[in-house]
Amino acid sequence: MLREIIIWPDTCLKRVSEPVTDFGDALQSLLNDMVETMLAACGAGLAAVQVGFPLRAVTLLVRNEKDGTSEVVKLVNPRIVERKGVQHGREGCLSLPGYFEEVKRAQWVKVEAVDEKGARLEIEGDGYLARALQHELEHLDGIVFTDHVSLLKRNLAAAKFKKAKARGMKYVSTRPEPQDFTRPQN
Ligand SMILES: [Zn+2]
Repeated sequence: MLREIIIWPDTCLKRVSEPVTDFGDALQSLLNDMVETMLAACGAGLAAVQVGFPLRAVTLLVRNEKDGTSEVVKLVNPRIVERKGVQHGREGCLSLPGYFEEVKRAQWVKVEAVDEKGARLEIEGDGYLARALQHELEHLDGIVFTDHVSLLKRNLAAAKFKKAKARGMKYVSTRPEPQDFTRPQN
């Protein structure tokens, strides 16, 4: 089922998400809905809080650079345990359709999490994937990528999105950008 994506600057996005403790049917259907919603919106990542559930769960669309295939990954209770290097690149978010800003991120990260059944897993991301992981995991602590840009830019963007929301904007399900994040510019 498609869920409605909360558009920034809704205060819901500032909530700190709670750890997942129940791996029952409700979590499974939430994760499945998140995947469906993320793919319908042409996104590369979605956090549960973006569809109104402040739970530490994210979905990601991970591209295999070698063969061009994509794989959906569900991460529950994820945390970054190691980070290396620095990258600068433009970043977007399904909660801010069509808005992109340059954000500084670690070049490489290692994340520990559990899958939808509670089994431990580890994922390492370099470049683009590292950016996506850092972006999604920040949502779990109530941080949106606009928190990294200047106050002036943030206020301008907030005004723009408030106006768009007042006009009834929900989320855009088809966008020219195929991905939620753009490639880092090295
Ligand atoms: Zn986001």
